[in-house]
Formats: sequence, structure tokens, C-alpha cells
Amino acid sequence: MNSILRNQSGAAAVKESGVRNVVLHGLLAAEYKHIVPNLERVTLKAGQQLYRAEQKIEAVYFPEDAVIAMIDKTKDGRTVEVGIIGREGMVGINIFLGGAITADQAIVQIAGRATRMRASVLRTETYFGSPLQQLLLEYARTFLAVISQSVACSQHHSIEQRLSRLLLSLRDYTQAREIPLDQASIAALLGVRRAGVSVAASRLQEQGVLTYRRGVIRVVDGRSLEKKTCECRQFIKAQYAQFQRSVAARSTRSSRDRALPVWKRKTPSGARRPRRGRANP
Ligand SMILES: [Zn+2]
Repeated sequence: MNSILRNQSGAAAVKESGVRNVVLHGLLAAEYKHIVPNLERVTLKAGQQLYRAEQKIEAVYFPEDAVIAMIDKTKDGRTVEVGIIGREGMVGINIFLGGAITADQAIVQIAGRATRMRASVLRTETYFGSPLQQLLLEYARTFLAVISQSVACSQHHSIEQRLSRLLLSLRDYTQAREIPLDQASIAALLGVRRAGVSVAASRLQEQGVLTYRRGVIRVVDGRSLEKKTCECRQFIKAQYAQFQRSVAARSTRSSRDRALPVWKRKTPSGARRPRRGRANP
């Protein structure tokens, strides 16, 4: 982690660290400064595979500006994206849910920074009633809702609608009109043939909504792209917005609580903190 976060403490450290990840931000605001030595800032490359399917999860990732796709792969090699994770979330939620193995691949779609934490540290910190447990329960609920909607989307909505939603989602994360994404990656994410992607992209290009050149898609008319997509776009946005509001409210409550004398603080009922100490790798 960077030196600012190492040497300072409390809310100032969180603010000045530039941590943008919603879960990590909520974590550090909730008196988790002691985990800082266990955090490592990493730069992820596009196409990098963080997890292979059926592999033991060694570390979880809190994306900052990197974007990671969770991809389900069948035995005959067909793939489909079941969830995109950016700064609002955490890659490796199975660890929190008691699993050690990932069912899906995790592949970096947009290069960028993330913070990595050993899975063993996360397990140690998610004891019953802890603020982290509450935070991740809420994230898990949100992510499950997103996955459910993604399944419905892949069954009932057209390639054009799903392509539009994917591009809008990546544009939200990158805050850029140009999205580095080739047709093979789009086909793998949508779980369709490249020919289908080509037809949908060509149609959107003809309508002046986007341009497509050498693995880079430029969104020319975002408003029209919003109209092209399905209702899943708003549903998923609403889920993450609700999660972010909840984390913000939790952080405010936590700060208020810390300002009180110890005997007046509201600790979660039944919370049991295990013996403090760095977890074994
Ligand atoms: Zn849809």
C-alpha cells in the first residue's frame, strides 16, 4: 500500500490514500486500519487471468480503476460473463461465503489498479458480527441480484441490447468514450458467436451510435446507446447505487460511534473479535 496510508491513521488516511474502491473504503472507515500492512496495490493488465475455474483462491482483489469480468466456462469451451466487477466491489466473494475454490474465471477486461489481500486475512477479519462481515453480506446480496439479472438478460435480451449494456457499463467504469475491446472478447463475454457481435456492432455503427476500429470502440452517442439497451442496465445500476448509499451510511454511523466514549459505543450485538494478529499466509 502507498506510504500515505501506511503512515497515517483514521479518516484522514482513507481520504488521502485515494482509495476509490467502495468496499475497501468502507472497510478502512470502519476501523480496519490494522489490515493496511496486509494490503498490496497491484496493476492489472488487460486479459490477465486472476482466477482459473476450480482453482483455490489465494487472494481477493478490490479494483480501483481496473475492471474484472467473472466468466463461466462450459466443458466444450463456451463462455459467458456472469458479472462485471469494478470499483464498487470485490473479486473473490466465495472466500467470504466459506468457499476456497472459485467456480468461475476472473479475467481483467480493463487494465488498471487494484488492491490485493490474502484470502487468509479476509477470513480472519470476517468474524461473526464484525463490520466487515456486515459489509460483505450486503455486497454478496447485491452481487447475487446482479448475477440473477445477468442470467435473465442472456436468455431473454438481444445481442444488440446486451452489447449496448456491456459498453455502457465499461464506459461508466472508465469514464472514457473509447473502450479497448476486441470482437473476440465481446463474443466471449456475451456467450455468442463473433458473427453475431459483428452484425450488432455494424448496425450500431451505421446508426451513428458508435465507431469500431482495431479493437477500440468509441461511443459516439451515449444517449442513443442507453435507448438501445435493456432494462437490466437500470436494474443493475440501482443495485450498486443502493449498495454505495448503504456503505456511505454505515461509514457515517461508524465515525459518529467512534466520537463517543467507549462505554456509549454501539457495537454489533454478538460480535466476537478473534485474537488480533496477522493471519498466516
Ligand atoms: Zn438485459
